Amino acid sequence: MDFELTADQREIQALAREVADTEIAPDAAAWDREHRFPDELFPKLAELGFMGVCVPEEYGGAGADFLSYVLVLEELSRADAGVGVTVAVHTSATTLPILAFGTEEQRSRFVPPLARGEEIGAFALTEPSSGSDAGSLRTTAEPDGDGWRITGSKQWITNGSRAGTFLLFARTDPETAGARGVSAFVLDATHVRVTREEEKLGLNSSTTSDLVLQGVRVERDRLLHEEGRGFRVAMATLDGGRIGIAAQALGIAQAAYDAAREYALEREQFGRRISEFQAIQWKLADMATEIDAARLLTYRAAWLKQQGRPHTAEGAKAKLFASETARRQTAEAIQVLGGYGYTKEFPVERYYRDAKVTEIYEGTSEIQRLVIARELLGRQLREEPVARA
Ligand SMILES: Cc1cc2nc3c(=O)[nH]c(=O)nc-3n(C[C@H](O)[C@H](O)[C@H](O)COP(=O)(O)OP(=O)(O)OC[C@H]3O[C@@H](n4cnc5c(N)ncnc54)[C@H](O)[C@@H]3O)c2cc1C
Repeated sequence: MDFELTADQREIQALAREVADTEIAPDAAAWDREHRFPDELFPKLAELGFMGVCVPEEYGGAGADFLSYVLVLEELSRADAGVGVTVAVHTSATTLPILAFGTEEQRSRFVPPLARGEEIGAFALTEPSSGSDAGSLRTTAEPDGDGWRITGSKQWITNGSRAGTFLLFARTDPETAGARGVSAFVLDATHVRVTREEEKLGLNSSTTSDLVLQGVRVERDRLLHEEGRGFRVAMATLDGGRIGIAAQALGIAQAAYDAAREYALEREQFGRRISEFQAIQWKLADMATEIDAARLLTYRAAWLKQQGRPHTAEGAKAKLFASETARRQTAEAIQVLGGYGYTKEFPVERYYRDAKVTEIYEGTSEIQRLVIARELLGRQLREEPVARA
């Protein structure tokens, strides 16, 4: 067992930290206040290779490993979780599945513009009536000559209003209910119409859009993986994507801890620094412990993924624990700052608002527990059904 990052991983982490501190953190509060997507930032991130960290160089990426990508997400999210989710969805939920499931023609056509950051990616699975139960989606892809006509609506699509490439899921077999009739498609911005921007509790520097498709004609070359096997693409994507969301949650929690520690060492009450009170010390100790545990779970899941080993339950555990840690500990950070923590003068109230969604997207905490339990019990439950009277 080796807990050391490699020299390359440390280098990329240091670079991401520097960029986060200089190019993101100073503006994060303003982007949040103005609900502004920082369009000008992403070309800069692209220049540094951060829009394709773990994409092989031959496809326009930086050629680093998956753990390096997770380290970058953690650092970006420490400064601004909205930027973190933009890069996470772009990479984990769009670029990587095209790389994993695309034909060579699709890989060389769609991946390089994404990996070089010339285009932003989006993942369009959720619909108004299908969230956790994604297999019940209603968007249809009707056969039309050698292709399809896609009709339907998608809801809460991160990057929806900025993306040039969409990984979108539609039902190609209306006769088959549930996940088996679903196929995955790679679409362009011209194929979708953005109908609404969501107003959210947090993550205000990211965009979350509703989309409509009205009889959009696509050729066969837009089908990703096999017809009717799109749900497998979606589930494999979420297996990896969850590790990215765990890293995002970790970055938010770390930022909250850093702010709480700094404040506790300065603020004086009753003639003493509040960090001298055991009540505050224990809060900081609990925060640091949970963040450490979340980090170990997240890095382990990333390591398993890059080894090509199963990581479904490990990714779900990392996301579950890191997101709940972020929600709990950002609240504790506000407590350490007292009334100041509740104001916009300090960033911890933003961390608190941003943290909540990590328990919801890419599978809610309830769904993560379901995924973990299925891994723990699934085979036995399937192979040894209870005899019913
Ligand atoms: C800011 C934001 C960005 C998003 N970005 C994207 C995106 O880019 N692409 C995309 O496709 N989607 C995106 N989503 C959608 C997100 O993935 C869904 O919100 C999420 O999967 C949950 O679905 P839902 O909101 O419909 O909740 P529901 O599925 O309606 O769940 C409601 C409640 O019921 C619980 N529940 C549901 N089923 C079960 C069950 N079987 N057992 C126990 N409890 C259950 C849930 O855990 C939850 O507590 C985004 C959402 C948000 C808020």
